[in-house]
Amino acid sequence: METTKQCSKCKAHKPREEFYVDLSRRTGLTASCKVCNDAARNERRHRVALARAVAKAQNRAANPVAREVAGLAGALREALAARGVQ
Ligand SMILES: [Zn+2]
Repeated sequence: METTKQCSKCKAHKPREEFYVDLSRRTGLTASCKVCNDAARNERRHRVALARAVAKAQNRAANPVAREVAGLAGALREALAARGVQ
């Protein structure tokens, strides 16, 4: 058995311990390394949080009393974009 495995994301050859166990896969390990897996998970979490914040802000923006919240959503989007979150 090979002692290293190539990550499908960053293409680095890493020791098998650097991959999470995934018994649904032929190799028994995830295709991407732990670092790439964690990064993808964090990104998904940020996307979901951002989508929720924007939807909430848009709902409030529909109410003229709280229209400034739409501006906050834009600021939030910019702040996340500045941190590299789309
Ligand atoms: Zn990787």
